[in-house]
Amino acid sequence: MLTVVWCKRDLRLHDHSPLSAAAASGPVLPLYVVEPDYWALDDTSYRQWAFLRQAVDSLRTQIVERGGRLCVKVGDVTDVLARLRDHFGSFRLVAHQETGNAWTFARDNAVRHWCADHAIPFDEYQQYGIWRGRDFTRDRWSKKWDALMAQPILPVPDTVDWVTYGNDDLPTPEALGLAHDGIQDLQPGGRAAAEETLRSFLYDRGEPYQKAMSSPVSGEAACSRLSVHLVAGSLSMREIYQATLQRQEEVRDLQKAERGLWPSAMRSFIGRLHWHCHFMQKLETEPEIEWLPMAQVYVGLRPIPNSTDLLDAYAAGQTGFPFVDACMRYLTATGWVNFRMRAMLMSFASYNLWLPWQQSGAVLARLFTDYEPGIHWSQSQMQAGETGINAVRIYSPVKQGYDQDPTGEFTRRWVPELAHLDGKELQEPWTCEIPPADYPAPIVDYRATTAEAKKKIYALRRTAAARAEAAEVFEKHGSRKPHGVRMRTVKQDGADA
Ligand SMILES: Cc1cc2nc3c(=O)[nH]c(=O)nc-3n(C[C@H](O)[C@H](O)[C@H](O)COP(=O)(O)OP(=O)(O)OC[C@H]3O[C@@H](n4cnc5c(N)ncnc54)[C@H](O)[C@@H]3O)c2cc1C
Repeated sequence: MLTVVWCKRDLRLHDHSPLSAAAASGPVLPLYVVEPDYWALDDTSYRQWAFLRQAVDSLRTQIVERGGRLCVKVGDVTDVLARLRDHFGSFRLVAHQETGNAWTFARDNAVRHWCADHAIPFDEYQQYGIWRGRDFTRDRWSKKWDALMAQPILPVPDTVDWVTYGNDDLPTPEALGLAHDGIQDLQPGGRAAAEETLRSFLYDRGEPYQKAMSSPVSGEAACSRLSVHLVAGSLSMREIYQATLQRQEEVRDLQKAERGLWPSAMRSFIGRLHWHCHFMQKLETEPEIEWLPMAQVYVGLRPIPNSTDLLDAYAAGQTGFPFVDACMRYLTATGWVNFRMRAMLMSFASYNLWLPWQQSGAVLARLFTDYEPGIHWSQSQMQAGETGINAVRIYSPVKQGYDQDPTGEFTRRWVPELAHLDGKELQEPWTCEIPPADYPAPIVDYRATTAEAKKKIYALRRTAAARAEAAEVFEKHGSRKPHGVRMRTVKQDGADA
């Protein structure tokens, strides 16, 4: 029987369980469906499709090199499957499990129902350390993750009996109705780019990782920059993990003087690979956290404001806080910023502007080329202090500028209105004798808003209801590592500060 391999966010031939299973059982039709309704959502953007399109194109080339052809279709997945059924009669459908947003969750359900209604067997394969089911327990999660990632990497099947079926063009972002979003320097996508990014991180760029990751200046080169490739699935998590273990062994064999900072860099990186799935597991277990806080006691804490002025200034990098604006403009131009600055941007929106994380989170989601709903929404509400189980962390928008951009080069580059300033005048231009005319005054008093935010959030956290709910949230979502401390004062998992 024909097997249709539905490629989603697993755009590779290596370590691809559905493809390996399909190739072993008969003819194979590889399928990618571009879904216009998905690309019309509030959390999707031009840059995300521009990147993914390169990854699809790369997969197409890899299949051509092996004598086949990727079937690209534009439309609704169930409509495409119905057309395939009209043409081929019955078939089997295989795919990887996906932990996406509510839209992809509903679409997967629709596909499952369509398959059941039409007697089409549909098998989904696990690719990440994420387990399905609302009653999933966090106990021993990390051990299960290690065991899954230690399994052998599947090679590209030697021979595949490829089947083809028509083909649509890969639409441009404009053809999907996506307006250009200010991206200037898109990370290259596709398998070759992903492999080179992994290699250069493990062998050239990654040594200063642990310290350098905190600043956008040093983090740009020293962070792995693999997040986008994980989103597209150009490399599997297992491939990245095992390449890192191998590098770790090679480093161990080096002379002490040659090892430098590599051991700590590799350890720290492996920890973050766990975090990837740890955070995505939260959305898999409780899909509602895309729009609701993990702890319901925080519902309505930050009402939707009547005006969009603050959100607009934030999104445009026009808040009057130079380092915040520099990070936002850098993110707009490149589609990436380091973890600490993402946390600062979310902290600023949530505590100083008192905006609901759902609103600021949507702005950031569109700007992240590596938008990954499971990580994004868990992190957004965690940085906004609404999980109930993580320590409240309010970043000073001014201190972060001094700490993470001590020479001011980053701030001057991305906020050229301030290019003639330095030191305190650069990071706090409102203290200049004559403040720059072409740069806004701060949109809020950051000291007063921080104090007010602390009062509100701690008052709520101290209530009996909040404490009781925190215990439930921890049971469902809390990391059992690294110190096994039971929540409330648990250090933010996922924070490097
Ligand atoms: C508000 C907020 C929103 C975020 N949204 C996203 C998102 O949409 N997509 C996304 O991939 N990451 C997100 N992150 C996590 C993190 O900032 C990025 O994964 C990281 O900056 C990507 O760069 P990198 O690949 O060079 O990371 P590296 O530091 O090299 O880390 C390697 C990989 O580990 C994972 N990882 C690293 N840090 C974290 C973390 N704190 N939590 C979970 N996984 C982590 C990622 O998969 C990353 O690619 C968010 C963080 C915050 C604070």
